Amino acid sequence: MNDNKYSGASEAELGFLKEIVRMLPAGLTVQDAHGELLLVNDAAAAQLGMDGSRPSPDLAPRREACRKALSAGQPVVTEEALHGGAARQVLLTTHRPVRLAGRELLISASSDITEQKNFEDQLFRSAYFDELTGLPSRRVIEHRANNLLAENRGGERFALAFLDVDNFKHINDYYGHAVGDALLVELSKRLGRDLRDSDMLSRISGDEFLLLLSPIQSQEEVAEFVQSTLERLTAPFFIDNSEVFASTSVGISLYPDHGSSFETLRQNADIAMYRIKNGGKGLAAFFDSSMEREAQARMKIEQSLRLAILEKRFCCAFQSKVDIRTQAAKGIEALVRLRDDEGVIQAPGSFINLAGELGLIDELTHLVLAEIVKSIDPINETFGAEATISINVAAKQAGNPEFMRSFAQALDDTGFPQRFMIEVTEDAFVAKNHFQAEILPMFRNLGVGISIDDFGTGYSSLSALADITADEIKIDRSFITDIHKRPRSQGILRAIESLSEALGMTVIAEGVESYEELAYLQAATNIRYAQGYYFSRPIFLEELKLATPLSSEARGSVSSRPHQQNRQGYSRASGYRR
Ligand code: C2E
Ligand code: MG
Ligand code: MG
Repeated sequence: MNDNKYSGASEAELGFLKEIVRMLPAGLTVQDAHGELLLVNDAAAAQLGMDGSRPSPDLAPRREACRKALSAGQPVVTEEALHGGAARQVLLTTHRPVRLAGRELLISASSDITEQKNFEDQLFRSAYFDELTGLPSRRVIEHRANNLLAENRGGERFALAFLDVDNFKHINDYYGHAVGDALLVELSKRLGRDLRDSDMLSRISGDEFLLLLSPIQSQEEVAEFVQSTLERLTAPFFIDNSEVFASTSVGISLYPDHGSSFETLRQNADIAMYRIKNGGKGLAAFFDSSMEREAQARMKIEQSLRLAILEKRFCCAFQSKVDIRTQAAKGIEALVRLRDDEGVIQAPGSFINLAGELGLIDELTHLVLAEIVKSIDPINETFGAEATISINVAAKQAGNPEFMRSFAQALDDTGFPQRFMIEVTEDAFVAKNHFQAEILPMFRNLGVGISIDDFGTGYSSLSALADITADEIKIDRSFITDIHKRPRSQGILRAIESLSEALGMTVIAEGVESYEELAYLQAATNIRYAQGYYFSRPIFLEELKLATPLSSEARGSVSSRPHQQNRQGYSRASGYRR
């Protein structure tokens, strides 16, 4: 700093400037033509590890940058990663060659961009790798497949497999999300075993994986490999002291046989996977063109369901819950029906799961409630103003506090919430969500009754009943059918009955179809209530108005003649009017 400009500066001023350079919050170095450091301020010393904070620094890259910048005579901006690992530090440095007092010098100013750099890397990783399993993302496998398609050396074949974990939602609900996550990690390890470097496994969403096998020789080879992968999955996973079983359904498409773009191959593998899901699950299938037609048919149902919801083309059928001693209707259950594009009435079996998958079921439930409110006068006239009104709520909805809050509000808004019962399957009660602890009390406060639907078909054991707080338990039809001939079902029925009695829950037998079944219930059990075709099929209120009025003797008595069937396959009002 003995340039002429400074000749007039006082000693004090020079000292002041030196201190400022030393304490500058950016790293500043000056090097000579040989790369030797002439000046290093405090920040630079810390960055380069020359302040003793780290073992002797490697200054070679700095010298190299210096040489380049000086020979180019132009400023250079470099990014320097000073040391690796977790503690790596990244500097963004501008090197500027200058001529001062007849000497070639290089002035370098650095700022620490470590944090920014780490953030960028994290963004990069999350775009290309799945955080949970560390597997490449959909983008990466798509890129990889596109490269293979572009290269297409001599028509080399490859396979794309779409894998979907069976019942993952159940596992998540039942064991909780932490176990669900851990399962996905373990699964991805088992799936990824035995892959070649040229293969790739990717997690593309929640419980869906894509597997690219390349190159392949034959379909048989792929089938064999996938089969052995599936067999590996049959052993239980031990997670958080639980033994979890998880199978996976697989659909496979082959290039070039089943498509010439990534999207088509993926879609066709998905279609093949769907076929497995609807069948046995836990298996693998190759795509074929008949599946495509099926998929189109499914799309059509999907479209018409969306339209039906949009156009509110739903109605309710009502089925009574009968007191088997007095034959009076204790209550009714609303069962939703869909009028499809051709005006044909569809039962929920054909659309309720799809409505759930498409996220349309919440709206559907609100529509059912609206329909009931609209029809409350004929309901009261037909079944009595005391009859409870049951509405089905899917387990998935039951675990969703947001929906359940809005539904509770809607029930309250009717002005007669205590008339209602909600029917939920046992899975909702045992799932590790807030249903029992937080959601149920909300309904209880309104006076809404709680019913366990289809009991005996879900995941819970009898002992789980003790922890369930419900008013009513409906024993699934599978136990009731031919109950008079099935000693094992009789035993189960007795057990459910005595436990429910102890817990103060009303028991209803579902699906009573024959006189023999009813006779058994009356003679051998204390069960008081039943529901089933024997008493009444689900009926539309409009049908009631059309039906010939029943004679007063016929009211309140069980008819032993077969029910009349109408066009939709539901009987006309049978003798359960009060
Ligand atoms: P669920 O709640 O167990 O309703 C009883 C089902 O059994 C009804 O079928 C009813 O028609 C049928 N059923 C009644 N008695 C007999 C009988 O004696 N024999 C036989 N074979 N069947 C009988 P449906 O109406 O087809 O409904 C099927 C399921 O769809 C219902 O089972 C319920 O889980 C669901 N569901 C119906 N409406 C709704 C709704 O509004 N929302 C939701 N989330 N699910 C609904
Ligand atoms: Mg029900
Ligand atoms: Mg049921």
